[in-house]
Amino acid sequence: MQESVQQRVILRLAVPVPLRRLFDYLPPEGLSPELLQPGQRLWVPFAGRKLVAVLLEIVQESPHTGLKPALGLVDSQVLFGHDSRKLLAWIADYYQAPLGEVYATALPVALRKGKPADHWAEQWLQLTIEGKGLPESALARAPKQQALLQVLLRDGKQSRTHLKTLGHNPTAIRALQDRGLVEWESGPTVPSPLPAAERAPVPELNSEQQQVLEAIDGSCFSASLLEGTTGSGKTEVYLRLIQQVLDSGRQALLLVPEIGLTPQTLRRITSRFPTRSIAALHSGLADGERAQSWLAAAGGQADIVIGTRSVIMTPLPRLGVVIVDEEHDASFKQQDGVRYSARDLAVVLGRNANVPVLLGSATPSLETLHNALSGRYQHLRMRHRAGDAKPPQIHVVPTLREPLEEGFSPQVLRHIGDTLMRGEQALVFINRRGFAPALSCDDCGWLADCPHCSSKLTMHRRQRQLRCHHCDYRRPLVDSCPQCHSHSISALGGGTERSEELLARRFGEYPVIRVDRDTTASKQALDKLLAPAREGKPCLLLGTQMLAKGHHLPRVTLVVIQDADGGLFSADFRAPERTGQLLEQVAGRAGRGSLSGRVLVQSRFPEHPLLQLLLEKGYGAFARQLLRDRAVAQLPPVNAMALLRAECEEPRWAEEFLHNARLFMQSLVPPSPQIQYLGPVPALLERKSGRFRFYLQVTAQSRAQLQPLLARVCAWAEGNKNRRLRWAVDMDAQEL
Ligand code: ADP
Ligand code: ZN
Ligand code: ZN
Repeated sequence: MQESVQQRVILRLAVPVPLRRLFDYLPPEGLSPELLQPGQRLWVPFAGRKLVAVLLEIVQESPHTGLKPALGLVDSQVLFGHDSRKLLAWIADYYQAPLGEVYATALPVALRKGKPADHWAEQWLQLTIEGKGLPESALARAPKQQALLQVLLRDGKQSRTHLKTLGHNPTAIRALQDRGLVEWESGPTVPSPLPAAERAPVPELNSEQQQVLEAIDGSCFSASLLEGTTGSGKTEVYLRLIQQVLDSGRQALLLVPEIGLTPQTLRRITSRFPTRSIAALHSGLADGERAQSWLAAAGGQADIVIGTRSVIMTPLPRLGVVIVDEEHDASFKQQDGVRYSARDLAVVLGRNANVPVLLGSATPSLETLHNALSGRYQHLRMRHRAGDAKPPQIHVVPTLREPLEEGFSPQVLRHIGDTLMRGEQALVFINRRGFAPALSCDDCGWLADCPHCSSKLTMHRRQRQLRCHHCDYRRPLVDSCPQCHSHSISALGGGTERSEELLARRFGEYPVIRVDRDTTASKQALDKLLAPAREGKPCLLLGTQMLAKGHHLPRVTLVVIQDADGGLFSADFRAPERTGQLLEQVAGRAGRGSLSGRVLVQSRFPEHPLLQLLLEKGYGAFARQLLRDRAVAQLPPVNAMALLRAECEEPRWAEEFLHNARLFMQSLVPPSPQIQYLGPVPALLERKSGRFRFYLQVTAQSRAQLQPLLARVCAWAEGNKNRRLRWAVDMDAQEL
């Protein structure tokens, strides 16, 4: 006789609150527990509110009493499969983040707020079993049906919207349906990032590209650094890898930096894979579009998923490869909330899914380079430019004691003029936007400061404003000193706006295109702005680092770097690395076509050994030297480093909190050669938006020593009752 055992069903959920624990609930009343599965979203009551939580486990016992029932399922869909839950748990653990917040970060806003997934459902056309058995040449007598059949055979199922943009008509679809070869099914839409483009010609691979592709085994995990000169054809390698993965019926994930996801990049991908469903995920999307793309990725409908940082948390059930383009880019690190590095997570994701991971850059981060040089990652290199482009020639132009005109040496201005006259294009890189980074009174020395930050206000002349670039505080430009009423006020230093004025005056017969955050509110605006440059007419481009990446402008033969010195003397130990990357990337814009390129680098300190090394031997040698320096100083990536951050309107409280944290940690692990403490010290930008910021730095010879200590200090800090003080752990922090 069978005994009926009364089993309790308890739901263990990730609830979006800043507490490092899970919460137990009873199943929703009236809902059969068989309908519940890990990875689903549920509505739960929490402290008088109704929140969207994610079911992680169904258990039989709970250490807690007085459990409340959950309110109900948001929908029946399992959004987070097993692999995805594993990655998110790893993130919470490694970055010391509350798991509920990790899930909230992974979900697009609309789904986080509880919109059901089928809100965006649409119809997908797929082959039936009979359809799948047909040869490509079947139906030769009905060309429209045959074309459609070929797309479905070659590239898999297609959404109704996508079929429309591809130009397939409903009559052909119905005819195939009547023959029992195709059928409709419901699934999420993938809004195409761009209208389907013409299939672009595929270049023959050169031998370096071929070797790289042969070194990557598509069938299992490996992590590789592709260190390839700018213009060496890395993107072509990515496209081939993606092709292989699509051919094997799997999804490709491509991560790009924030300013790298331009219409130009998307065009290159859509034109190579016009019949594939491509989901693009980036911050420029409306909530609904973002949710749709996310669901298409998570449901497996999207073949190619391309996105910025947060795309790394999107579940991908058929993942076949992870590619990170410009892996050194700082935008892969999230600087608030869950402070993860998408580039590092790419490797974790690839390992979990047992698929290859490729990190590509002309200027690899020291972290990745260290992993490659120590043998943890495979080190692949491409040293030559693809096609017939040659590497540019680099010259330093000393600027100390030179008669500069708005920051430009006469020699540089002459070269710009010559370039334009030859019908070619010049690009001028200036690291600061606005007219001038400071405004000062000549008589009493008054400086325009931000009232909320420890920084100067930048003068924007066209808008007649002074603006803080840290908190966006704005005030009208003054024409007399607020302190002594003198009218002799000077703009100190230069920015893009100031240079634009000079260059437009000097070279007014050519288009002068300024590219910075003030002129390009959107990616589309940038695309439009660059149109004359793409057409190949002689023109002058000037701008900030937005110009350093991703743009392939074959008629640019001269690149000018107005000031190479900024990063060489910063208090941030990462500044030389970033400067080196930026200079090499900007220089890499020169001579990408058949015309040869020249780079002019203005510097007040042309003898600086790091600058010399960079300009003479290139970024590779420069980065290896920096790595040796970091090892000596016991800094990352050789040592592991985490910051405990605190910020507060009252500086004393932040400092005191960190001081106590240090005492607490030292009582657990006293300082030693293995673990070292520094601080509390003020952040480089000490005051931001009215709050004083401090950090405590903990370095360790290994992460294994650091992790348990961080977990303990988080538990300690959660007991902090000062509501006006904000604190965070920043593992592998990128900013000081
Ligand atoms: P990277 O991503 O390394 O900067 P790209 O992939 O953008 O380089 O390639 C630079 C240029 O060279 C592009 O115009 C690209 O079309 C071209 N290219 C890439 N691979 C080849 C090849 N094998 N043969 C000819 N041209 C190529
Ligand atoms: Zn004054
Ligand atoms: Zn400010």
